[in-house]
Amino acid sequence: MLKEFIHYFKPHKNLFFLDLFCAFFVGLTDLFLPLIVRRMINIYVPRHDIAMMVRWIIALLFIYIIKLVLNLMINYWGHICGLRIQADMRRDLFFHLQRLPVQFFDENKTGSIMSRIINDLQEISEMSHHGPENIFICSVTIIFSGILLSTINLQLTLIIFACLPISVFFVIFIRKKQLNAFEVSRSKVGEVNANVETSISGIRVTKAYTGTKTEYEKFDRANLEYVSARSVAYRYLALFNSGMLFFIDMMYLVVVLFGGIFFYRGIINAGDFVAYILYISMFLTPVKKLVDTYEQIVEGYSGFLRFQKIMHMPKELDDPNAVDVGVLEGHIKFDDVSFKYEVQNEENVIEHFSLDIKKGTTVALVGPSGAGKTTICNLIPRFYEILDGKITIDGIDIRSMTRESLRKNIGIVAQDVFLFNGTIAENISYGKPDASMQEIIEAAKAAEIHDYIMELPNGYQTSVGERGLKLSGGQRQRISIARVFLKNPNILILDEATSALDNATEMQIQKSLEKLSKGRTVLVVAHRLSTIKNADEICVLTSQGIQEYGDSKTLLEQKGLYYDLYQYQFSSLNPVES
Ligand code: ADP
Repeated sequence: MLKEFIHYFKPHKNLFFLDLFCAFFVGLTDLFLPLIVRRMINIYVPRHDIAMMVRWIIALLFIYIIKLVLNLMINYWGHICGLRIQADMRRDLFFHLQRLPVQFFDENKTGSIMSRIINDLQEISEMSHHGPENIFICSVTIIFSGILLSTINLQLTLIIFACLPISVFFVIFIRKKQLNAFEVSRSKVGEVNANVETSISGIRVTKAYTGTKTEYEKFDRANLEYVSARSVAYRYLALFNSGMLFFIDMMYLVVVLFGGIFFYRGIINAGDFVAYILYISMFLTPVKKLVDTYEQIVEGYSGFLRFQKIMHMPKELDDPNAVDVGVLEGHIKFDDVSFKYEVQNEENVIEHFSLDIKKGTTVALVGPSGAGKTTICNLIPRFYEILDGKITIDGIDIRSMTRESLRKNIGIVAQDVFLFNGTIAENISYGKPDASMQEIIEAAKAAEIHDYIMELPNGYQTSVGERGLKLSGGQRQRISIARVFLKNPNILILDEATSALDNATEMQIQKSLEKLSKGRTVLVVAHRLSTIKNADEICVLTSQGIQEYGDSKTLLEQKGLYYDLYQYQFSSLNPVES
């Protein structure tokens, strides 16, 4: 753990040591004031030595100017050092996330991944430089002021030291309660955030179902719970801060009381008495600062543990002998494939599944929802690992191909179109970032979206809005089709590509999909049979596996499941489908 943490310091070690070096000297500079005051009162004032007094004041001015420069360095370069460490960690985390299997994203919520990237790394970064800085500054001041206090008067110092355990006990007791209370309030604020997040992303549903009142109530409940949890935390915070200040005041009282007695009895002189009072504050302030630093370290440490947990998750690794297959022709074969999702304990979703999709043909998967159609589609680009059997393309096991070269050969048009926040041109060229504008336009024309794009004020440079929300479902789907036209793969997977669209739009998109399918191997999943009746082969799948297989005509003649589905969809109950 420590080794991995230090690994992030290494590239910035010069900056880090500069920061610590400055911190050490800042700690030292604070020790001069009491020393000088003491000399003035004890030596220079009784001797009326104005020259020495002026000299020391000028020296003090220099010391403070040096301290100013050092503090500037610590505050700027310390933060820069933390920022750079944070940036390195964020880059590693982001790169790692990009390489994690799809399974990870099934199991982890976007919100919690985001909080790893933003909150945790911020806390780690703060801890990474403030922690060592403060420990350094405080240790130097505590040790040196402790030594100086003892040289001035040992008895008085022992009295002060005797009082310290009370403060340590107080600090530990209250801080523990305070940290627990803050932990509770942190989880409550998480609930408030989750509430806001789901409410905002579901705002259309809320409006459609006039659910605003329910949302208000849910939010208010979480908000009030947060307020009451935070109030407890603030109670301990108030107790701690005021208690700490009171404790410091009490220490002054002890010093004034005993120092006063010692001074009265002539055990110490005036200079020592004043220096003592000055040193004692220098001794106590770092104690409080160390407690704050401890809390920061605890938070940063737990953030680092969470960061590490993700970093240790296994990446999608290619077989060491995996090859770049270049351009595949597209003969896909499922050979006795079994699969189940890791989160499921039950039986396999896909059991002994075999299917042969010849190059350039279209095979359709139909069947009840939950039968595993989408799962089969996801196995081809290796989004998930199969348990048994093998999947080959052109006779090569997909596990012996690099994932990148495999995925370059596959185009996917699914029901949910994901557009990135950017321009239309950027979204079309997503799979081929080096595409020329001419190629992008060709692809858009093929997907029949070019004319619409040209009507927009900024044409291809129009921003699609977050996730493409500024476009209609049909327009989004056309952009995703254009994306595949541009990528031009030999294998095409159409997973309920038109299911979310209305009938009229579906019919138009269907034409583009047919054009896209030409000359490619296509696996299509559709629940509307009108979209697949021209497929070369139709595979009727249920949770028991493949029930029927053949072309539409043969299957209709068999009068089995496909026939029933066909009858249902094309009956008078569903006139729109015909
Ligand atoms: P279909 O496309 O035929 O409707 P799916 O392939 O989506 O069926 O789902 C098949 C089964 O696998 C269902 O029982 C579903 O609950 C489960 N399933 C689908 N996706 C996941 C996932 N990401 N994690 C766990 N289980 C899943």
